[in-house]
Amino acid sequence: MERESMEFDVVIVGGGPSGLATAIRLRQLAVASERDLSVCLIEKGSELGAHTLSGAVIETRALDELIPDWKERGAPLNTPATQDRFVFLTESKAIALLNPPQMNNHGNYIVSLGNVVRWLGSQAEELGVEIFPGFAAAEVLYDDSGAVRGVATGDMGIGKDGAPTGNYTPGVELLARQTIFAEGCRGSLTKGLLDRFNLKRDADPQTYGIGIKELWEIDPAKHKLGSIMHTVGWPLDTETYGGSFLYHLENNQVAVGFVVGLDYKNPYLSPFEEFQRFKTHPAIRPIFEGGRRIAYGARALNEGGLQSVPHLTFPGGLLVGDTAGFLVVPKIKGTHTAMKSGMLAAEAVYEVLTTEEGGPFEVSGYEDKVKASWVWDELYVARNIRPSFHKGLWAGIAYSAIDTYLLRGRAPWTFRNHADHDVLRKAAESTPISYPKPDGVVSFDRLSSVFISNTNHEENQPIHLRLTDPAVPINVNLPLYDAPEQRYCPAGVYEIVTDDAGQSPRLQINAQNCVHCKTCDIKDPSQNITWVVPEGGGGPNYPNM
Ligand SMILES: Cc1cc2nc3c(=O)[nH]c(=O)nc-3n(C[C@H](O)[C@H](O)[C@H](O)COP(=O)(O)OP(=O)(O)OC[C@H]3O[C@@H](n4cnc5c(N)ncnc54)[C@H](O)[C@@H]3O)c2cc1C
Ligand code: SF4
Repeated sequence: MERESMEFDVVIVGGGPSGLATAIRLRQLAVASERDLSVCLIEKGSELGAHTLSGAVIETRALDELIPDWKERGAPLNTPATQDRFVFLTESKAIALLNPPQMNNHGNYIVSLGNVVRWLGSQAEELGVEIFPGFAAAEVLYDDSGAVRGVATGDMGIGKDGAPTGNYTPGVELLARQTIFAEGCRGSLTKGLLDRFNLKRDADPQTYGIGIKELWEIDPAKHKLGSIMHTVGWPLDTETYGGSFLYHLENNQVAVGFVVGLDYKNPYLSPFEEFQRFKTHPAIRPIFEGGRRIAYGARALNEGGLQSVPHLTFPGGLLVGDTAGFLVVPKIKGTHTAMKSGMLAAEAVYEVLTTEEGGPFEVSGYEDKVKASWVWDELYVARNIRPSFHKGLWAGIAYSAIDTYLLRGRAPWTFRNHADHDVLRKAAESTPISYPKPDGVVSFDRLSSVFISNTNHEENQPIHLRLTDPAVPINVNLPLYDAPEQRYCPAGVYEIVTDDAGQSPRLQINAQNCVHCKTCDIKDPSQNITWVVPEGGGGPNYPNM
C-alpha cells in the first residue's frame, strides 16, 4: 500500500513545551501579518501531555514573552513557590545547607508540566496549528539533494514478526518547507540527524541524568503549599551525581523525584531502588506515611549544557528544546529555555519562509539568534558546574560555590564532558549494592510502579528496543557488567532469565512496559540498544506529571 502524503509549510515533531512554543510563535507571526502559513505538529503520546514528565518548578520568562496574558487565559500555573530548602542527607540526619542562588525559586511556579503542555496545546489550536496526537514520527524523509523534506509517521498494524496484520495501515508522509525536531531529551530521529549532518562536530558528548518521579496525595496536615526541597547525599555515594526534589503543589499533592547522573560508575547501582530507598529516610518517610501514591514515571534529562549543544540547523530542518540540550543543570530547569529556543526558531523560520519561495531551506540564522539570547547567557554561566562534580560531591560543591560567588560563571576555562556509557566500571571491580525490600507503604517495586504509569503498547508489534548485535547482552554485558540494563531501566523491561537449572541465560525484553525514558539508549555500555518509536499512541499515559 502506498503512503499518503500531506504538505505543510512547517512540520513540528514533538508536542512538548518547545514544539508547542515554536508552533504558537509561528502562527502568532502569521496571524499578525495576515499570511497563510500552515503548521502541523505531531506527538507520539496518545494525547498532549501523556508523555510529559518533569519536576516541575518553572520560570515564566519565556511564557511571559510568548503569551503575556497567560494568567487571564487560564494557564495552569496555580502554585507560586514560597520556600526553598537545600538539604544534605546522611543515613540518619538531614542537614540544612545554604540554598544556592541557582535554586532560588522566588517568582517561579510549581506546576504539572503535563497540564501546562495541554494548555499550550489549546492556545496553539486556537491560533490554527494542526495537532495530531497519537502519531509518532518514525522516519526522516530526504530529497534528492539530501535535505530534509519531512517525516513519515510509523506504519500501524505490523506484527511482532515484521509482517502486516489485518489492521495494517501505512504511515503518512508529512512534507514541509521546514521540519522542526522538538523530540525532547535523546530524540530518536534527532540521533540520526546528529550523525548524518555531523552536527556534534564542535561539541562535547551529551551527558544525561535519569529522573524518576512519583506524584503523591499526602495528609493535608503535612502539606505546605509552594514549598520546595532539594536534597543531595544519602542514599547515593559521594562519587555519584544526583539528588532528590520535593515540590508541594495544589490539592495536597507532592511531586517527589530522584535524579541520578548517568555517568554513575557502579554497574550494580539501580536508580529506581536509590529513589525508593531515599523515601525511607527518617526525615522523608513521615511526609508520605498516611498518603497515597497516584502516579509514577521516568524520563532522561540533558546534563551536558553549553559544551554539548550541537549545531542546530541543517538543510530542511532544525532542533529545538531538550533534543538540542538546552537544560540549565544547576537549576534543573529546561522548560523556559526549551520554549525560548522554539520561539527563536519560529522567528528565524518565519523570516525565511516569508521572503523565499520553495524550500527546503537551512535556517542558519536560528543558531545566531540562540547565541545572542538569554538562553545562551544562562548556559554559559552554568557551564562548569555539572562537570565539576566529576571529582565527587564535595569537590563539586566547593567548586560550584567558587564559580558562583567569586567567578560568577565567567572563569576563563571550560570543563569538558565525557559520554556516560564510557564510564561504567567492570562488575569485578565494583561493590554490589544491597537494596532493602520495598515496604509497600513508602517504597515499592518496579511492576506496581509501572502499573500506575498507565503504560500501554499494542502487544503484537516489533520490539521497539533494537539490539544491534543480539549476542552482546549475554556475551558482553552479563559477564563484564552483570547486565546493568536489569537495574538502570526504571520499568523492568530488561530481564535476564535462565532455564529451570539456572543455566542458559538470555535477555528477555518486556517492551510493553517501556515508559520511553531513553535511558537504555544512553547508558548501555556497548551502545548496542537503539530506542525507536513504537506504534503511535503507545507508551505511558501520564495524567499530570
Ligand atoms: C525528572 C525531571 C525533572 C525536571 N524538572 C524541571 C523543573 O523543575 N523545571 C524545568 O523547567 N524543567 C525541568 N525539567 C526539564 C523539562 O522537563 C524539559 O526541559 C522540557 O520538558 C523540555 O521540553 P521539550 O519540548 O524540549 O521536550 P519534552 O518535554 O521531552 O517533549 C518532547 C515531546 O516530543 C514527543 N516526541 C518525541 N519523539 C517523537 C517522535 N519521534 N514523534 C512524535 N513525538 C515525539 C514526546 O512524546 C514529548 O511529548 C525536568 C526534567 C525531568 C526529566
Ligand atoms: S526500555 Fe529503555 S526507554 Fe524504556 S523504560 Fe527501560 S530504560 Fe527507559
